[in-house]
Amino acid sequence: METTNVKAYGTASADAPLAQMNIQRRTATAKDIEIDILYCGVCHSDLHTARNDWGFTTYPTVVGHEIVGKVTKVGSEVTKLKVGDFAAVGCMVDSCQTCDSCKQDLEQYCSNGFTGTYNGKDKHLGGMTLGGYSEKIVVEEHFVLKVPANLNLAATAPLLCAGITTWSPLRHWKAGKGSKVAVVGLGGLGHMAIKLAKGLGAEVTLFSRTPGKEKDALELGADSVIISTEADQMGAVNGKFDLIIDTVPYIHDINPYIGTLNTNGTLVIVGYLGGIEPFLNTVPMIMGRKSVAGSLIGGIAETQEMLDFCGEHNIVSEIELIKMQDINEAYERMLKSDVRYRFVIDMASLK
Ligand SMILES: [Zn+2]
Ligand SMILES: [Zn+2]
Repeated sequence: METTNVKAYGTASADAPLAQMNIQRRTATAKDIEIDILYCGVCHSDLHTARNDWGFTTYPTVVGHEIVGKVTKVGSEVTKLKVGDFAAVGCMVDSCQTCDSCKQDLEQYCSNGFTGTYNGKDKHLGGMTLGGYSEKIVVEEHFVLKVPANLNLAATAPLLCAGITTWSPLRHWKAGKGSKVAVVGLGGLGHMAIKLAKGLGAEVTLFSRTPGKEKDALELGADSVIISTEADQMGAVNGKFDLIIDTVPYIHDINPYIGTLNTNGTLVIVGYLGGIEPFLNTVPMIMGRKSVAGSLIGGIAETQEMLDFCGEHNIVSEIELIKMQDINEAYERMLKSDVRYRFVIDMASLK
């Protein structure tokens, strides 16, 4: 298969800083779209993959799955976009497209495993897929999204992971006018959950462990902030929420939040993979038919729905634009939660 050499920023090992390297992109086939990458958001998964925190990174790796760019080439069978259009790519670049999940537009739950935008098995070139910290990417049309013309392109990038990860549970559990939604954690995911839930018409509350987030949360659209370590504040929202979106990315006790769910309420975990400690008390769940659930990104059709909704409601991420060369420092700042609320790389700095 023919390939093109493009500049990228990646790493050859878990303990090496990210640095410039050259990678190969396939020449667009009949079904492919070639995109000149303008902006790429910086997700916590990027950092965990670059540093092999989950133990399954294949090196060298190039991460990045919040991609916005301009179409530079389309294959002969492509109908969705044309050269010059703005386009976006999120966390997936392929799936079997034939299993029950894929047929229901749930490619993220493909029973044969979706192909991640990075560190996934590349069906075309062999080896592993390489992500958005690069000049160009070539992706099959089905996995490319259209970008609403009115949105700021850089601030749109984080919608492709942080946005859809919170949008999908809001839609699945039918958040809207009259519903009461709470968000746990105010970071990349949490700030999008607030904006999207508010956009859908829900009453939105932020749970925060420490004071100091009130002003930001209210500016983002939250109606109230509850300090979760204050017993009287937690007591005041006992049995209140229809849906809680828990975005906290590390192990934490979810029991206090279960008590704040209404009958039939659901707490959805989107930020943390792994065991729950110290334990999960089933009593409040059984006594109120409450659920604890998980949710992973969203399907391609749902991602387009989210982007179109954001276009209509003028919703984008709060970002800090950085140069590609600043990525190692950005990772250190992310580990300290020192970002409001998403870094986005200006890819012009790589060219
Ligand atoms: Zn991500
Ligand atoms: Zn499938």
